[in-house]
Amino acid sequence: MNKHNKKKRKGFNASSMRCPYCGGTVVYRSADGIYHDNSKGMMLYVCSNYPECDSYVRVHAGTNIPVGSLANHELRSLRRTAHHYFDQLHESGFMSKQDAYQWLADLICAPLSEAHIGHLGEYYCKQVIEESRKILNRNKKSDCHRFQVVRGGALAS
Ligand SMILES: [Zn+2]
Repeated sequence: MNKHNKKKRKGFNASSMRCPYCGGTVVYRSADGIYHDNSKGMMLYVCSNYPECDSYVRVHAGTNIPVGSLANHELRSLRRTAHHYFDQLHESGFMSKQDAYQWLADLICAPLSEAHIGHLGEYYCKQVIEESRKILNRNKKSDCHRFQVVRGGALAS
């Protein structure tokens, strides 16, 4: 039963990556010259057409694994905002970190393993921002109502 079941390791080989904006090849390089301050020596996957195409993604510190997909300036700032609100969901104690990621997975209709802000495009970033804010506002107004994880997001109030 087990023949040829060798699981292909998901490689992060820059040569097999393409920029989602211009289709250009992707270069693994230091963030020097891209980050204003790269004293931490961050590494990035950058579109080879940079800076004409302003698309890149950083790696998880100490690895060569990208935190998500390449993103242009607009998407990077959307992801930052989405992360900001998403983090408040569990940092404020409305839900556990685990519940927050489950909520995210449900919101974007993806398995838990793919529920990461770094993978989201513009549409889902906006959804995360909007839905997170609804939850945060609701809990601000009525602390007596214990938050319940509602699958699918919509909650009739
Ligand atoms: Zn590009």
